[in-house]
Amino acid sequence: MKAFDALVLGLGALGSAVLLQLARRGIRVLGVDRLAPPHTQGSSHGETRITRCAIGEGEHFTPLALRSHVLWREIESETGAKLLTTRGVLVLSSPARTSFTHVENFFANTVAAARKYHIAHEILDAEAIRRRYGQFRIRDDEIGYFEPGGGFLRPEACLAAQLELARHHGAEIHVNERVLSFAPRRADVVVTTDKDTYVAGQLVVAAGPWLPELLDASLARHFRIYRQALFWFADLAGLFGAGRFPVFIWELSGRRQSIYGFPDIDGNGVKIATEQFDLATTAAAPGSEVGASEPAAMHAAYVAPFLPQLSATCTRASTCLYTVTADFGFVVDRHPESGRVIIASCCSGHGFKHSPALGEAVAEIIANGRSSIDLRPFEFARLSVY
Ligand SMILES: Cc1cc2nc3c(=O)[nH]c(=O)nc-3n(C[C@H](O)[C@H](O)[C@H](O)COP(=O)(O)OP(=O)(O)OC[C@H]3O[C@@H](n4cnc5c(N)ncnc54)[C@H](O)[C@@H]3O)c2cc1C
Repeated sequence: MKAFDALVLGLGALGSAVLLQLARRGIRVLGVDRLAPPHTQGSSHGETRITRCAIGEGEHFTPLALRSHVLWREIESETGAKLLTTRGVLVLSSPARTSFTHVENFFANTVAAARKYHIAHEILDAEAIRRRYGQFRIRDDEIGYFEPGGGFLRPEACLAAQLELARHHGAEIHVNERVLSFAPRRADVVVTTDKDTYVAGQLVVAAGPWLPELLDASLARHFRIYRQALFWFADLAGLFGAGRFPVFIWELSGRRQSIYGFPDIDGNGVKIATEQFDLATTAAAPGSEVGASEPAAMHAAYVAPFLPQLSATCTRASTCLYTVTADFGFVVDRHPESGRVIIASCCSGHGFKHSPALGEAVAEIIANGRSSIDLRPFEFARLSVY
């Protein structure tokens, strides 16, 4: 059996970050993925991910976002890849909102985190939003939080850059190889794949939406998987280019879910999406394609009433999987039955932006037994059963 100091199971957003940070520290590490990341089957595809530094999902996420921005820039300068674009993020909300973003006080938490961590921002009233961004049909009671240092990441390029760098630092990478099982022993973990068997001092399970399949029911019950659909609408009026229209999150009134979106970045259209938590699925479930009627339904319900100048011409659509915990937080914790296995999931629909700092923290735990950023908020123990 081939032996490694550490094995990373899954090389998506978090696994590729863990792999890179372990390899940088001179740890002999193997990364294994059942597919060949970046791919379109999991949670880390679709051209763009929002990144912001003042984190409304909870103050404890903000240090991760701040550190991640530093790491993204480092990776960019080492690889020459273009990963992070910071042209600002606008969060819209109102006292009359009927939707919320992951947690109830998302907007107020965002403002509080910006103040606490001295993150540059502006608070805009309805008039100021209309003056700056006439594309939004803003109600008089709506307000905006604008963070100029926020923006978007290019997820596929982020994964590719981290894997390339990890390889450069000595990581071994096996793609198209599926982990079938892992068995912790006193001194190591035996990992069996469909091609080979390995022993590793530490195992990091970063399987994204496949995570529940690799866990006992007592742990798997903490994660639910939801299919989300993404739509790109044509900017026929030429109003939604990157210089004129921001990355945004909008807590709507009159709808059950928020919407979020991006400017037309590469001429592919304006990506707009909402979230759904009504129908759970599994990573193995077939038929995740976008149905023929979905773009028109999305446009009628979530685009036309709020962004009336955006055309109904859907240039592209795809789906992606959320892995969600009951409190919309992450799980990064030792397996309850073995200190040699770390379960790592930057889940709940907002983890991409934090993945390099989480990867660094996991690597620090493996290398030194403790991390610079406090990971206690991500322990299993906090979770009630979903
Ligand atoms: C539609 C959508 C929009 C999002 N928007 C944002 C956003 O704007 N901002 C933000 O910060 N976050 C966002 N997120 C969340 C973020 O993208 C995810 O939290 C993150 O990508 C999850 O990464 P992961 O590494 O956990 O999973 P993945 O990237 O899915 O990686 C898991 C990997 O494990 C591999 N694997 C699974 N099982 C096995 C096995 N048995 N053997 C070997 N390999 C295995 C898979 O092939 C896969 O490559 C969004 C997510 C979605 C779906």
